[in-house]
Amino acid sequence: MKISEISVYSHQIPVVHGRYRMSVGELTTLETTLVRIVTDDGLTGWGETCPVGPVYQPHHAAGAQAALTELAPRLIGEDPTRILSLHRRMNALLDGHEYAKAALDIAAHDITGKHFQVRVADLLGGAETERVPSYYALAIGEPDEVAEQAVRRADEGYPRLQLKAGSRPVEIDIETVRKVWERVGGRVQLAVDANRSLTARDVLRLSRECRDIPFVIEQPTRTMDELPGIRDRIEHAVYLDETTVDVNAVLRAVGSHLCEGFGLKVTRLGGLLPMTTVRGICEARSLPHTCDDAWGGDIIAAACTHLGATVSPRLNEGVWIAQPYLGGHYGPDCDIDVVAGHIALPPGPGLGITPDESQFGTPVAAFG
Ligand SMILES: [Mg+2]
Repeated sequence: MKISEISVYSHQIPVVHGRYRMSVGELTTLETTLVRIVTDDGLTGWGETCPVGPVYQPHHAAGAQAALTELAPRLIGEDPTRILSLHRRMNALLDGHEYAKAALDIAAHDITGKHFQVRVADLLGGAETERVPSYYALAIGEPDEVAEQAVRRADEGYPRLQLKAGSRPVEIDIETVRKVWERVGGRVQLAVDANRSLTARDVLRLSRECRDIPFVIEQPTRTMDELPGIRDRIEHAVYLDETTVDVNAVLRAVGSHLCEGFGLKVTRLGGLLPMTTVRGICEARSLPHTCDDAWGGDIIAAACTHLGATVSPRLNEGVWIAQPYLGGHYGPDCDIDVVAGHIALPPGPGLGITPDESQFGTPVAAFG
């Protein structure tokens, strides 16, 4: 089987309720980049990558499209079911830009699953569950409002809540954590995610003043290098997210004992294949982790759900998808939804969804 066409689409997805606030800024709409691969025997596979705006990571939509335009014409004729070879070919053509390569990786998994008539989860080693746990990210807000929202989400059935923190006086974050704990403590797992925004001083204060509350602190500081100096004075487990920019960064964090777990983004690490490498590293060291979108629609959500289904249940911190914050789906057969805090594994084959490409307009680039 050979790749005969690759099309790249740009698509705007609005954020419901108008905005979503975290330390790096507010989101109102996001530009996602979609990839459609067609093979010479008529199979179609979809991939997606959606940076959370241009400042969450060193990723942006125009960068994804430029990288895909560099790669795609040189992948025509390659066999999409040879996914490891495809990665080696992509790496030989373009250094870095893992978040763009991820869209092609996901589309290749979709096609490979369809070719062998299996779900992507089964390609990735086999599903441990048909009902994948999710978690809800509570945007930065007034402490009482966040606590109220936490109760609603716990009542809905979310097994885990993540509170966004940072970009304001740490006393308000501490008050928020305390109020959430008073309302839902013991019912759900808690994570406090600073998205790189806290100073070492404020991390120590947050941890010290909430010593009695069990939560994990996610990506507290801007760099990994700030952690060794304070690590043994933090009372809580630390997870890394944004600073694990590739598989090597994960290895460095694990080897240097910088963290006790990870928030992982499928696109940042380059797609499902590199994520399975990291899943194995985490399993070897008993490190819990998530399998998240950055943002994006049903295609990346389906990819994350298939991967999340394969994680050892004792290490599975859930699959975050943007769907609860977005309006609409990519088509009638694209209903990747969080229901009672969990996501039903799509039945497959492949990703198990069929996007309606008429929603995406004319491709921004097409090859083949
Ligand atoms: Mg995070």
